[in-house]
Amino acid sequence: MLVAEDQPQLLSQLSAALTDAGYVVDGAADGEAADFYAGTNEYDAVILDLGLPRIDGLTLLRKWREAGQAVPVLVLTARGSWHEKVLGIDSGADDYVAKPFRIEEVLARLRALIRRASGQVTPQLRCGAVCLDPRLAKVTLDGTPVKLTSHEFRVLSYLMHHRDRVVSQAELTEHIYAQDFDRDSNTVEVFIARLRRKLGAALIETVRGIGYRMATGA
Ligand code: CA
Repeated sequence: MLVAEDQPQLLSQLSAALTDAGYVVDGAADGEAADFYAGTNEYDAVILDLGLPRIDGLTLLRKWREAGQAVPVLVLTARGSWHEKVLGIDSGADDYVAKPFRIEEVLARLRALIRRASGQVTPQLRCGAVCLDPRLAKVTLDGTPVKLTSHEFRVLSYLMHHRDRVVSQAELTEHIYAQDFDRDSNTVEVFIARLRRKLGAALIETVRGIGYRMATGA
């Protein structure tokens, strides 16, 4: 998740709430930083303030869309500024929230965006006996709650959101750790091993030399 917002207090508030909700968050305080992050990472979604220093949000959004960036973007607009909303949507935003907003509304809209982007229509993700609830960051196996660490949850959530394809270790690593974290792709194997131990060995397939995917038929 990328959050581009120049108000430090709002940026840290959003980052904290999103981290609590189980997302990995990179924060950008201006348009240049946001553009750099967006160009070097694959995000599940971007929260983009339109009034950003250096490069404004609309310019960024148009640039990304012209470059074929399909990442879901939720724009933050000034209160009552209908023309900002229209411009935002016209420039390729998927949804908007007007300031001041309640953090719950931002979270709800993000969940909907990510769900739509991954082709899922139900709020809960199901794979065989395993059920994952992104809203509550909870996982059950045959209806029984299973305790996962936040990293294990992120790995499982990412695989379930992209269950139609093989996910490489590098891609997983990128989604588990925030930008400034010391990345170590070996740890993905550890998380996969723990998930198999907790949820069943057959749940996640290893595709040799490529990566992982949720078991077909599961
Ligand atoms: Ca601003």
